[in-house]
Amino acid sequence: MIKPRSTKEVSECLKLATKYKVGVVPWSGGTGLVGGQIAPDKYSVTLSLERMNNIKNFSSINQSVEVEAGVILETIHEFVDQRNFLYPLSMASKGTCCIGGNLATNAGGIGVLKYGNARDLCLGLEVVLADGSIINDIKTVKKDNTGYDLKNLFIGSEGSLGIITRAVLRLYPTPQNKIVAFFGVQNFNAALKSYLEISKSFGQYLQAFELISDVGLRFLEETKMVQSTIQRSKSEWHVLIEFGYNNSSVEQDIYEALNELCNKNVISHVVLGDTETKARKLWKMREDIPEANRKIGAITSHDIALPLENMESFINKSLLEIKEINKFLRVNCFGHMGDGNLHFNVFPPQEEKNSSYTRIKSKLTNVINSNCKSLGGSFSAEHGVGRLKVKDLKQYCDPGKFDVMRQIKKAIDPFTILNPGVILRQDNQDI
Ligand SMILES: Cc1cc2nc3c(=O)[nH]c(=O)nc-3n(C[C@H](O)[C@H](O)[C@H](O)COP(=O)(O)OP(=O)(O)OC[C@H]3O[C@@H](n4cnc5c(N)ncnc54)[C@H](O)[C@@H]3O)c2cc1C
Repeated sequence: MIKPRSTKEVSECLKLATKYKVGVVPWSGGTGLVGGQIAPDKYSVTLSLERMNNIKNFSSINQSVEVEAGVILETIHEFVDQRNFLYPLSMASKGTCCIGGNLATNAGGIGVLKYGNARDLCLGLEVVLADGSIINDIKTVKKDNTGYDLKNLFIGSEGSLGIITRAVLRLYPTPQNKIVAFFGVQNFNAALKSYLEISKSFGQYLQAFELISDVGLRFLEETKMVQSTIQRSKSEWHVLIEFGYNNSSVEQDIYEALNELCNKNVISHVVLGDTETKARKLWKMREDIPEANRKIGAITSHDIALPLENMESFINKSLLEIKEINKFLRVNCFGHMGDGNLHFNVFPPQEEKNSSYTRIKSKLTNVINSNCKSLGGSFSAEHGVGRLKVKDLKQYCDPGKFDVMRQIKKAIDPFTILNPGVILRQDNQDI
């Protein structure tokens, strides 16, 4: 593993890599879920950004801060929080993942509904190309129509086009108050109804709308990850919402709206996170679900996006078709419903191992990806393509788009130095 300390050193490494035709795999926090940070073979070296971890040029006037690629996401939160600002990108892996990886994967997480994903929160970028040349697009302006938008080409390219070394991040003033609430809904339709009602009246305050299935809560119990049981309904679905606001007169209106939804039987069993400790406990429950999933061991995991109006059809159709394959399989469907993003993971029956089900994995994947495509969705919403979903990209991507991606890779990285085998196949058949 090579660990450069500066952009110049990253550039020197890449010049050598191009000279000797060695693949370079960028590594930030190593939390990526599609294998993009894992070197494919002994002919590639891993380049860790961990030593590039400075934060500078905070500006409360521009509402921005400049960070090096190896800064841990949570460190950025702490740095700006001390200055009463918010960097809204956040996810369960925040204590380990780094901003370089977040930008390289165009990470989403829990604040996308109000603030957008990593791309929307980035004003400027510095990138080193395969031949060692440096693109300095570090700036703090929000508007910049000077030719092709290269910054947004590199964001989300998973290290396959360039190595991100620095970025300017967009900050927001921290909302002074927040309300976190957890409630049950009888079915998916009620979850959707509550989302539409709440966002109609309080859209500008709504920071998160997370769908949680009862299977996910049972997984927390099964893996003994619930610190103390949160009182909940017997519903199949639950919702965790967060509002952020400065004007305290909104608070009463939000409570009244939740009450009204209860009276109309759209939602039930509301648990309020009305102190910091209670709010944290509710969020911890949501953030522990991926870890509970990992402990149980999925047969197949999917990070998908769907138009909201098709989400219910997708869930019903997919659950039915999965049951037809094996009626004892368990599905944990949860995610950032407000963004149209679901995690849809299939597990073996209790007490059984996922390894016994490897033979049906591709069947399950096919059901989920095909339903997603036919209902206008995406097979990868926020985790990227990495090495694990390269085949899926070729199968489900529009051929015109795929062809342009191939041409871009060929033009920018003609010797396939950068992250070989990520997004496009390594054997030159795609490139
Ligand atoms: C418990 C858990 C919860 C998660 N929740 C979410 C979530 O809600 N939303 C979400 O989007 N993701 C989520 N993830 C996935 C993951 O945390 C994110 O994709 C994260 O952005 C990756 O950051 P990283 O620093 O760990 O990157 P890494 O894993 O190190 O790398 C990820 C990819 O980016 C490339 N890369 C890394 N650094 C650079 C760089 N400097 N320049 C160019 N390419 C680079 C790597 O080669 C790799 O392809 C979660 C993961 C876990 C384990």
